[in-house]
Amino acid sequence: MNEVPADRALNLTLEAALVGSAGGYLRNAVRIAGTTCLVCTTTVNAGDTYCHACARHRSAGRRQLTADHVAMLTYAIEGTQSHWLMRGYKAASPIGITEHRNVVALLCIISLDLHRNCVERMSGRRVTHWATVPSLPAKAGEHPLHALLAPGMALPDAPLTAATQVTAPRDFRADHFRTGIQLPRGSHVLVIDDTWTSGGHAQSAALTLRRAGATTVSVMALARYFKPGYGSNAAFIKTHLDKDYDPLWCPWTSGICPD
Ligand SMILES: [Zn+2]
Ligand SMILES: [Zn+2]
Repeated sequence: MNEVPADRALNLTLEAALVGSAGGYLRNAVRIAGTTCLVCTTTVNAGDTYCHACARHRSAGRRQLTADHVAMLTYAIEGTQSHWLMRGYKAASPIGITEHRNVVALLCIISLDLHRNCVERMSGRRVTHWATVPSLPAKAGEHPLHALLAPGMALPDAPLTAATQVTAPRDFRADHFRTGIQLPRGSHVLVIDDTWTSGGHAQSAALTLRRAGATTVSVMALARYFKPGYGSNAAFIKTHLDKDYDPLWCPWTSGICPD
């Protein structure tokens, strides 16, 4: 029998830890044409390709301004453990916060390890920088997701800061964020976001980075906020979100990894 390489053995241990602690309540995000949004994986009106928010971001010739690729890992289903996870990991002190932080860190680390090269294949460009999406309007201090991931990221950061005065934070606008750096031609920034609600924050961050010179911007979001009481969402959960979280399921394609 072939020996498992040490790196892969460690990752298998991490994957088992993630599935063991959270696989029972996390669900892989699914993309099904005509049923879920092909960008953000929320449910759509039957037959639609995109949800209202994603369709608006892409309207009037703005498609090329939005992120080139979006990966969605899971759903934050309102009122359930997956929703508490995404809130709890950044809360100041409640019980369970360490567990939440561990699960969020594992989700990110494992997905990057297994699927970073998927978006590099899809775009034909190696990831050169990473970024997280600041809170809007600006909050003092480092964003909890940035603080959690920065020690382990081996890539340069493309730092983003949020505007202090924002009238409609969910709008898709380049001036919601600033970055102090000019990105070199050919750069590919991977933006990591926690909970995607309308996508306005992540798409605005992508636009700021594009204006700063990024050739490719990809967004990996940890969870699509999901209301079980809305429309036919309860039926969707029953029929499509019935399997435990599988880290091997590709979040960029919502299926098998690209060749
Ligand atoms: Zn969408
Ligand atoms: Zn993949």
